[in-house]
Amino acid sequence: MTLLALDPLFQRHETGAHPENPHRLVTVQQHLEALGLPNRCAALPLTLASDEQILRAHTPELLASLNEWTARGGGRIEADTVMSAHSLDVARTAAGTVAEAVSRVWRGDDTNALCLVRPPGHHARPSDPMGFCLLNSIAIAATHALSLGAEKVLVIDFDVHHGNGTQDIFYENERVAFFSSHRFPFYPGSGERAETGSGPGLGFTSNLPISFGTPPDKALEAIEREISEFTNRVRPELILVSAGFDAHRLDPVGNLGWEVEHFSRLTHFITQLAAAVCHGRVVSALEGGYHPRKLAESVEAHLQALLACDAETR
Ligand SMILES: [Zn+2]
Repeated sequence: MTLLALDPLFQRHETGAHPENPHRLVTVQQHLEALGLPNRCAALPLTLASDEQILRAHTPELLASLNEWTARGGGRIEADTVMSAHSLDVARTAAGTVAEAVSRVWRGDDTNALCLVRPPGHHARPSDPMGFCLLNSIAIAATHALSLGAEKVLVIDFDVHHGNGTQDIFYENERVAFFSSHRFPFYPGSGERAETGSGPGLGFTSNLPISFGTPPDKALEAIEREISEFTNRVRPELILVSAGFDAHRLDPVGNLGWEVEHFSRLTHFITQLAAAVCHGRVVSALEGGYHPRKLAESVEAHLQALLACDAETR
């Protein structure tokens, strides 16, 4: 089946007047429930990431710093990033739940998974929280897949921002390949074509910068072509997706002019590719998306595509 993580616990990361706030998930949950979609999925149990799991992607200094902020009750820990007293537990649960989805999909119990978690993770670097992100959930899940015996994992990041944290964590790693399409130039400033990995990881990072004003259909054509080439070279056994929906044209933070249908098209493309190369195994985790109604509609389109792939592979 398609696994779904959707739980009020992820609303307990309180950020005050901030675009990345609990209301995002309230709107998504109401929208999906009104359509009966959660009933068509298997519920993914919430799971806390252990220190051991976190430390495969992050340094002990990062964890110590987040523990100290938690003991103080939270605060503004970085220019854009806020923590409340519960935030670290929520972030641990986000990462642990994505890792649990990886366990189940890797075992073949379920085809694919969507983890509607907060806070987002893809800007969190080995030693530093950044850009609304505390722990890099997708990176923790990818290293978890390696611990289960996967040889090659591919992370596809279509959030409108470059996934600099994920890139940093795996820049020298040939077992976790990273593809990111993103608006450029834009926050966080990285993600140029020339960034392709180093050492044993050389060639296993692929960046597709997209300039503002590029027609979405043209952008999608380029993304699909480059993901195809990269995937055929990497031959992953599992695909993880950093699913950000802030490329939507109404998004107040991102905006690459995309409509909901573009997220639908891209997800169908990814699931078909996964069906061809890795038994359809896809684990997707929510990153950005800050227009609540368009986020909810985009998540619905993304989930419908995952459900369609599951139905085809059964
Ligand atoms: Zn983003």
